[in-house]
Amino acid sequence: MSFLEFNLTPSIVEAVTSMGYKTPTAIQTESIPVAMKGGDILGIAKTGSGKTASFVLPILNKLQHTKPVEKNRQPKVLVLVPTRELAIQVVGVFKEIAYELPRAVRAIAIYGGVSINPQMKAVYGAEILVATPGRLLDLQKSNAVELSKVKILVLDEADKMLNLGFQKEMEQIFRLLPKERQNMLFSATLSDQLTGIKNVLLSDPVVIEIEEKEGGISLINLMGYFVSDDRKGPLLRHLIREKNMQQVLVFTSSGLKADKVAGKLSKNGIQALPIHGKKSQSARMEALRKFKSGELQVLVATDLISRGIDINELPYVINYE
Ligand code: ADP
Ligand code: MG
Repeated sequence: MSFLEFNLTPSIVEAVTSMGYKTPTAIQTESIPVAMKGGDILGIAKTGSGKTASFVLPILNKLQHTKPVEKNRQPKVLVLVPTRELAIQVVGVFKEIAYELPRAVRAIAIYGGVSINPQMKAVYGAEILVATPGRLLDLQKSNAVELSKVKILVLDEADKMLNLGFQKEMEQIFRLLPKERQNMLFSATLSDQLTGIKNVLLSDPVVIEIEEKEGGISLINLMGYFVSDDRKGPLLRHLIREKNMQQVLVFTSSGLKADKVAGKLSKNGIQALPIHGKKSQSARMEALRKFKSGELQVLVATDLISRGIDINELPYVINYE
């Protein structure tokens, strides 16, 4: 299978090729043709399986075949995501591909924790919004955005959005959308909560569930250490030093714990920063940027923040709890 077979606009195929994609992943192979036909999709595939391009490519392709309209505050595409980091990452994929296209398409990220004014301005003329629910509603309430012309709705990492308690806000948003539209819901897991939202949102969807192949994680070694709570900190430091770990992502169960673990590492001369929902957006972005570029040795994160975040060949992940 090659990207050529989807009948996508040639410049989209060129763009993904220049991004290093040679063949579509399983979820892309199944989703892209359905999405291109305008059908509703429920796509379940594990993290790292390429869900983003499964909706980005057909969406950009669709827009290539429509005439650019006069600038307004009425986006045609809405992608809802659970975190600010994911909004930035997903909009990055849209932009990278859109950059190569003959018909210009503007995609912007909408998320809280930063000043709302620049986003109010940026919405003007944006055809694609990638948004966290709360800030999108703020913009809507202040008449900076009008959602009645949305033709395509995507929920990315939908299970996480429900876990984070976005259900009410999501339902509020759904009510602002026109009835006639395409819906795509992507998730790493299929939870009971998800079944609920699937039933209200999707009409006669194509369900695409990519099974994890056996041996699919052969590149990953798993190890567990059983220690009492008070020995965890010293063991963590020992492992980082002993194995000379240069890029380590540590998961904790709460923001408070992330602060504590990162603080303790720093005190002991191991470069570490915490990242969680209580941190300012600039601190979060800076920590993530440093970690991705290899400047920062240890990033201590809550699971919720790190969901969907893509880091190439991350060598070490430690689940602290
Ligand atoms: P998911 O949302 O399923 O967790 P992503 O869409 O974030 O996965 O993709 C994970 C990584 O795989 C990204 O670095 C992305 O650029 C890369 N990727 C996606 N599709 C392909 C492909 N067809 N070929 C090669 N790499 C791909
Ligand atoms: Mg994803």
